[in-house]
Amino acid sequence: MAKKTDGTATGETTSWRRLFADAVRDPAELGDIVGLVGDDRTAAVDAAKSFALTAPRGFVAKIDVADRNDPLLLQILPTAGELTNPPGFVGDPLHEASATVVPGLLRKYQSRALLIVSGTCAINCRYCFRRTYPYDQTPADVEAWQPALDAIAADAAIDEVILSGGDPLTRTDAWLERLVAKIRTIDHVRRLRVHTRTPIVLPERVTDELIAWLTAAADRQKPVMVVHSNHAREIGPEVLVALRKISQAEITLLNQAVLLRGINDDARVLADLSHRLFEAGCLPYYLHQLDRVAGTSHFEVPSARGIEIMSELRTMLPGYLVPKYVQELPGEPSKTPVA
Ligand SMILES: *Cc1c(COP(=O)(O)O)cnc(C)c1O
Ligand code: SF4
Repeated sequence: MAKKTDGTATGETTSWRRLFADAVRDPAELGDIVGLVGDDRTAAVDAAKSFALTAPRGFVAKIDVADRNDPLLLQILPTAGELTNPPGFVGDPLHEASATVVPGLLRKYQSRALLIVSGTCAINCRYCFRRTYPYDQTPADVEAWQPALDAIAADAAIDEVILSGGDPLTRTDAWLERLVAKIRTIDHVRRLRVHTRTPIVLPERVTDELIAWLTAAADRQKPVMVVHSNHAREIGPEVLVALRKISQAEITLLNQAVLLRGINDDARVLADLSHRLFEAGCLPYYLHQLDRVAGTSHFEVPSARGIEIMSELRTMLPGYLVPKYVQELPGEPSKTPVA
């Protein structure tokens, strides 16, 4: 097999890194692809200055360029809406700064510890709840995670470790394997969970190596993956195959979505998403009420409307395909059902 100059093998298992490096990051280029003109084009350039545009080409290819309100486009296109600042939308609405135990470790819930293992994502979602998180505190060197791992080892109440971010799957398999080997030495950790949107937006990332490190100690530490898809059209044939590869490896596969204005605030759209996920071996887990992060107000769906959508959805789907509609309230010991 050919070697690249950085020493990594070329071939299928590393092609995701090239695809990630080649993502669309220039708002002018996205503007050309989808035909943005005038103020929309100017706004895209301006809004991308505070939160960069990043979208893998495979995701961009699924956009219907004839539709300015395409639900995939709206998730990645920087717009003027981000530059408005209505009251109530703030930098850290979830008070994550105060939940940071040691750098990189978030502890809000008794039995679960969350590690921010990467500050990067394969895609930048404009509604992101962590668009202002101080990611530079996230250790890049696996050895630097020792204080976080020591804190987990010292607390037997923690029976699940969640790798999150950013997106943990922007790290290489070799890096993740080394971190996970350390987590595996902690006996009271019974489940290992990965929170990631990458399999949805860059399905090439679902490598054999990924399956291998995630399932390596499945008898002692059950693997769980929670992906993030908001619309059935994100799940094309390649994504379907990638998700099936995960579910067939006996990794519990769940989805979380965010309720987003103009994207999925419609029971039919959410029902289609559940059906498509189920085809892929994935069950819907959470539907999140939008966190009130500065720059995202234009995506908010009032919770009264969300409750209506959920009632309608329950009439359309078997109970196991209905996600739990929740919101995160600072200081609460779990996610809170919206009722
Ligand atoms: C959402 C979240 C979790 C996971 O909560 P579950 O209800 O178990 O999915 C864990 N830690 C933090 C900090 C979270 O925000
Ligand atoms: S993948 Fe998740 S963390 Fe990353 S930008 Fe999107 S919503 Fe935010």
